[in-house]
Amino acid sequence: MFAENQFKVEMINELPENMAIAVYRCGDLVDLCRGPHIPNTSFVRAFACISASSSYWRGKEERESLQRVYGVSFPDSKRLKEYLCLMEEAKERDHRKLGQAQELFIFNKVSPGCCFFLPHGARVLNKLKAFMQQEYWDRGYEEVVTPNVYNMSLWETSGHAANYRDNMFVFEIDGKEVGLKPMNCPGHCEIFRHRPRSYRELPLRMADFGVLHRNEASGALAGLTRVRRFVQDDAHIFCRESQVKDEVEGVLKFIDDVYKIFGFEYELELSTRPDNYLGVVETWNRAESQLKEALGACGKPWKVNEGDGAFYGPKIDIGVFDALKRKFQCATLQLDFQLPINFKLTYAPEDEGKHERPVMIHRAILGSFERMVAILLEHYGGKWPLWLSPRQAIICPASSDWLEYAEQVRGKIHRAGFHVDIDKSGKSMGKMVAEAHKVSYNYILGVGQDEAGSGEVSVRARHSKGALSKISVDEAIRRFREEVAAFK
Ligand SMILES: [Zn+2]
Repeated sequence: MFAENQFKVEMINELPENMAIAVYRCGDLVDLCRGPHIPNTSFVRAFACISASSSYWRGKEERESLQRVYGVSFPDSKRLKEYLCLMEEAKERDHRKLGQAQELFIFNKVSPGCCFFLPHGARVLNKLKAFMQQEYWDRGYEEVVTPNVYNMSLWETSGHAANYRDNMFVFEIDGKEVGLKPMNCPGHCEIFRHRPRSYRELPLRMADFGVLHRNEASGALAGLTRVRRFVQDDAHIFCRESQVKDEVEGVLKFIDDVYKIFGFEYELELSTRPDNYLGVVETWNRAESQLKEALGACGKPWKVNEGDGAFYGPKIDIGVFDALKRKFQCATLQLDFQLPINFKLTYAPEDEGKHERPVMIHRAILGSFERMVAILLEHYGGKWPLWLSPRQAIICPASSDWLEYAEQVRGKIHRAGFHVDIDKSGKSMGKMVAEAHKVSYNYILGVGQDEAGSGEVSVRARHSKGALSKISVDEAIRRFREEVAAFK
């Protein structure tokens, strides 16, 4: 059937003798395909070529050069147009491009896959962290600080040595093998068991902003979305089996509150007991029914992925959608019956004679801070809301005569806790304003003779398209504070 095409013949010849080969017909065209296909081309109402470039057959340089074409089709032209617009916008918003324009971070071959956050990038990271710390304060979490380097024996207990070693940085100290932590959980188990625990202490919510390292393949590294060194808003909840529902409900509420602030849509999926599960069926059943109750109580639609849970416990997957309707996985909500067994974690219940095992819940809301910075940067298109912004205000003096007054204003706003700069370039007001817009300052404060005379500033907000209001410095600070407080 395909004798006229040497490439298809080559592929067919390489298939195992007894393998069934699928072909699809569309009118006169019959072609090799695993399928499925749409029944006929009347379903292709709108299509576009996304890219076309030459590439080597099977990616091998010594082979023939062919043309590779990518296309996309939609049931109507409106949806195609929307898709193409979003793709165009995504290119504009690429975090690597915006990160460079805003001087947030750099990468350097001296440490592949590990980000250097520049001062303005560190501002965003610190604000995100402070935000999470305030949330922890309100929600009964306790922060801990744990080591980065652990003896291999810890990873043997946790199971990482057997299942995750290829993703770890392992080296020797004093002739003994050690590993950089790829996760915080085992360290938290050590904290849990450093002394006897009572049921009165549970639930114990242990948060950690520890640095994690995972040895991603160099080919997989991509900007901030896939890195080797990162920090998560990680926490582990140690609780009784009977507390699972309330704890999961609390985490779901936490996720909802945070994602609402960022303006993320999200969807929830419950993954249940897989075939290769460890532990007791009854434990799984009780946990799953509590997860279902918690999901029911959160009032959002959710669905079940039957048998898709990890072997050590069921989980809830949270898919978030950014402003460009792209889906990401950031939050984690994973129950774990196994790690408490591996680490022999117990607590004394009301009847102190017999010990019980806690359930562990792995949870993160933002996921990795690095990746969240990339997602937020693209989600906002570089236009940070004031509370997160690394450039909250810039003072533009009408001429160098007003630099001293500009410094006074800067000092006052800086002491009030805002990131404020002065444009000392000596350029015209129009040019300074244009450049301030380019790096997305939230507020531009003009100062000159009038303002210096009355102790005021002429405020131009990024979102108000240039409208000016002349107000006192104190009033400007009051407005900034009000806007920051309103982000929730
Ligand atoms: Zn964990």
